[in-house]
Amino acid sequence: MEQKKFICPKCHKESLYAFNTPEGIIIDLCDACKGIWMDRGEAASFTELTDDIPNLEEALKDAKDTEYMCPKCGGKLQQMKYLPEGELIIERCIKCFGIWLDAEELWQMENLASRVEDPRSRIMRAIKNMQDQGYIAIKDIQETIPKKSSRE
Ligand SMILES: [Zn+2]
Ligand SMILES: [Zn+2]
Repeated sequence: MEQKKFICPKCHKESLYAFNTPEGIIIDLCDACKGIWMDRGEAASFTELTDDIPNLEEALKDAKDTEYMCPKCGGKLQQMKYLPEGELIIERCIKCFGIWLDAEELWQMENLASRVEDPRSRIMRAIKNMQDQGYIAIKDIQETIPKKSSRE
């Protein structure tokens, strides 16, 4: 069966393919840039929280419009912080409310996952688990992404 691929918001190529995790959550992974897409509700399933973004009202206050397009509905993606006090930046579709995380953000997640004990950071640990099980090759990603000097 030919799997339908979606256009990656960052690569503009049909490089996004559906991936079923053992937990029964479907995410979309980009072959090229290693970013991930989660449809509405999938991030919440991951984190076992009610909402995809723990404090959406706060997050929306500082949300910025981007030129990126949603791979699922073509809506615009807005950039915002996952947690108001955190460093993790996500993009969220203004129409279907799916969420994009790019490779650099995943890399930040790895850093955060090891030191954040907030239950709201479970998504970060979930991603870390995915990496440990070989779904996401963070090592490959790190080689292609320059580390931010301010964080060293
Ligand atoms: Zn991509
Ligand atoms: Zn959308």
